[in-house]
Amino acid sequence: MDKLIFVSGGVCSSLGKGVAASSLGALLEARGLSVRMVKCDPYINVDAGTMSPYQHGEVYVTDDGAETDLDLGNYARFTKSPLSQANSVTTGQVYQAVIRKEREGRFLGRCVQVIPHITDEIKSRIQGIAKEDPDVDVVIVEIGGTVGDIESIPFLEAARQIIHESGKSNALSVHLTLIPEVAGGELKTKPTQHSVKAMQEMGIQPDILICRAPVMLDEPTRKKIALFTNVEFNSVFTSYNVDTTIYEIPLIFHDQKLDQVVLQKMGVESRHANLDSWRFMMEKFHSRQGKVRIAIVGKYMELHDSYKSVYEALFHAGMENGVEVELVKVDSSRLEEGPGPEKALGAEAEGGPVHGVLVPGGFGQRGINGMVRAAGWARTTKTPYFGICLGMQIMVIDWGRQVLGWEDADSSEFAEDTKHPVISLLEEQENVKDYGGTMRLGASKTVAEEGTRILAAYGTDLIWERHRHRYEFSNRYREEMAGAGLKLAAFTPDGDLVECVEWPDHPWGVGVQFHPEFKSKPTKASPLFRDFIAAAKGRMLSPGAL
Ligand code: GLN
Repeated sequence: MDKLIFVSGGVCSSLGKGVAASSLGALLEARGLSVRMVKCDPYINVDAGTMSPYQHGEVYVTDDGAETDLDLGNYARFTKSPLSQANSVTTGQVYQAVIRKEREGRFLGRCVQVIPHITDEIKSRIQGIAKEDPDVDVVIVEIGGTVGDIESIPFLEAARQIIHESGKSNALSVHLTLIPEVAGGELKTKPTQHSVKAMQEMGIQPDILICRAPVMLDEPTRKKIALFTNVEFNSVFTSYNVDTTIYEIPLIFHDQKLDQVVLQKMGVESRHANLDSWRFMMEKFHSRQGKVRIAIVGKYMELHDSYKSVYEALFHAGMENGVEVELVKVDSSRLEEGPGPEKALGAEAEGGPVHGVLVPGGFGQRGINGMVRAAGWARTTKTPYFGICLGMQIMVIDWGRQVLGWEDADSSEFAEDTKHPVISLLEEQENVKDYGGTMRLGASKTVAEEGTRILAAYGTDLIWERHRHRYEFSNRYREEMAGAGLKLAAFTPDGDLVECVEWPDHPWGVGVQFHPEFKSKPTKASPLFRDFIAAAKGRMLSPGAL
């Protein structure tokens, strides 16, 4: 029988539930088990695709084109779990499915209710993941939100029913809480006691507690927590603040025997834990030398989660190149006036000049001209530049404006009536009216041309990466753009769409229409991020060499 582990959170949000669930997944994989990860999100949006990055952080895209919660990115970075639409369950999806069935008359005259109809829909989605593949050993289900929230009640109720029906050893509850520190440095367990009580009121007795605390909890504190919560002493763990990297957390949990206790509780025979790849990664982390300064020029700068996978991929690429990546976050609207880029990125910049510029994905007009100026600056100063999705479109706009002399070159997303729409709506998008789930989404094939940086990065001309966009390099400008030297470096297999552009006579200027950040891992950085940081490292080591 497949095992299920429900990971819930208490006290407050942002405790790192996604990282804790992912770390547990990594540890069980290290023990030779086949793990699947699922996120339940209590919001009513059908998916995260229509939410602003400021509301929700980045939208993580899967191969099959699902626009999901950023926790799926954590699962992808920590585990081997395949991820698709099925791994992201939202209240919106659940209600949409139940209401559709009701309209089809599938409930045979019954009154449709939260229990059992909504909970049955949740249960069938969770259990469906395990049934889909006979090789699955464990499904880890992270329940979004905090216990006590009205929104998450149906998900916790579904978990309670599954735990009750499958028996203790087949379905575990892991609960993450906060141990705050009050004045005088004293650690407080009361919020954890209350949080576990709230779980018990829902009919769920947590089997394992992971306590988020500033430091490792001592034995008396863990004993006290165990006493008040009916959780065994050996099942109270600490997720203490790390000043290294979140990728050390699997090792930290392993040292406390989290994986051993989980296996015991599930009645799975203990197997050797092979954590070599995690240890090797930490060695690389500690042997980094020097700091590469990378400017991220975008519009959602205040919230780190908005570009989560991009920042993680830069970190991975730093480890692979033996350097620390210092993020210089630049709000592009600041670069629109006056000396702009030179001041924020060049020799006069606070902290010194940056060694690379990255323009990430984005939507809407605000700050676009600042990004175009940043790209122009990187091009003319021969600073390595990496454009992702919008960042590639920005390269094309800059080329149109500065090299071809078309001052009004733009994307029709931002200037509908421009005479030079060098970026324009994808043909397939012309009659699309709905916003949700209607972009060009998910993985598709890209073919790289000979003698390009993209080919050198991937080492193959057949590239599979994920997309999320409506606009595209406008084919009617191919000849003029390429005639002026812009390298059209990769295409869709039918040759219809330009997927990558590169600057000529430049150390490393590459823009891609897809999002390579989604497939980067701490143990294996995305090839384009790796090569971008390698180029930036070259710039750091010999700043004068242009
Ligand atoms: N707004 C642009 C488009 O829709 C870029 C999208 C993106 O960067 N993900 O094509």
